[in-house]
Amino acid sequence: MTKNVNETDVAQNEFPKQEQPEPGLQKKMTPVPDDGSTSYIGHGRLKNKKALITGGDSGIGRAVAIAYAHEGADVVLNYLPAEEEDAQDVKNIVTNLGRRIALVPGDLRQETFSQQLVAQAVSFFGDFDILVLVAGKQHAVFDIEDLSTDQLVDTYTTNVFSLVWLIKAALPHLNKAGSIITTSSVQAKKPLPYLVDYASTKAAIRNITESLAKQLAPRNIRVNCVAPGPIWTPFQIAGGQPQEKVPELGKNTAMGRPGQPAEVAGAYVYLASGDATYVTGETIHVAGG
Ligand code: NAD
Ligand code: MG
Repeated sequence: MTKNVNETDVAQNEFPKQEQPEPGLQKKMTPVPDDGSTSYIGHGRLKNKKALITGGDSGIGRAVAIAYAHEGADVVLNYLPAEEEDAQDVKNIVTNLGRRIALVPGDLRQETFSQQLVAQAVSFFGDFDILVLVAGKQHAVFDIEDLSTDQLVDTYTTNVFSLVWLIKAALPHLNKAGSIITTSSVQAKKPLPYLVDYASTKAAIRNITESLAKQLAPRNIRVNCVAPGPIWTPFQIAGGQPQEKVPELGKNTAMGRPGQPAEVAGAYVYLASGDATYVTGETIHVAGG
């Protein structure tokens, strides 16, 4: 592990209002989030492991992919086709670190795509060791009377159904001692009033993590969760927060600032690594206190 970000820089950073259409591109953000590409120092903790990562183009998933490559893993990334530019940047970073990477764009809201994604991962690197589920959707709506059925279905399909579909598709191809890592949020326990649909999916994810941890332990597969607090990613500026909240992001944490994606990646490294062989059904909060 390493010190991922320069604390002084982060403390001085400002996070101005800025808006992009969903899903947003990280390269167009001001400031550009820290993905750990130059600051993360690996210690071979995932040497020659193989990881399939969703939401891997930007934000937290991207920082995880880059940390995994620093730690010696090869990766397959899923993301939406509109995010190709960000994904190509990750491909360059991972390749320059000397690891293999395959990009598999596609929409996880289609159950059939989960099977295609797993099939493409298997054809790239064979059966794999780590499944990291980071993809998610968050769209702020202040009044439940304005929460459309389309959004409700979309949020649940993206955040919950796709997670179950992908785990089902991946299980026959997870190596012994495999690891599944899901992504919840502090919203699971302390929901904001304008994230009714999103926050409840994040509670469901924690619950699913715990039941699957029990179900899959006899198969020697561990299932754990990371619950981030406010992290500076495209999520925040592509509809996830009302614009007026963007400059305030993270100010209500003990640390008084949002986290950077590189500061979250270490939890995903730990849970996938040989250090965590007796850890399952757990949630690690990375939330600034
Ligand atoms: P992000 O926008 O960088 O990542 C979200 C990713 O989800 C996108 O890059 C996209 O590739 C993927 N995605 C969305 N819909 C998809 C679909 N239909 N098919 C395939 N992929 C799809 O933002 P992020 O903040 O890094 O979000 C990653 C995860 O972290 C999410 O699950 C989010 O709930 C969680 N999280 C984020 C924060 C935060 O403050 N940023 C806090 C708590 C939890
Ligand atoms: Mg993205």
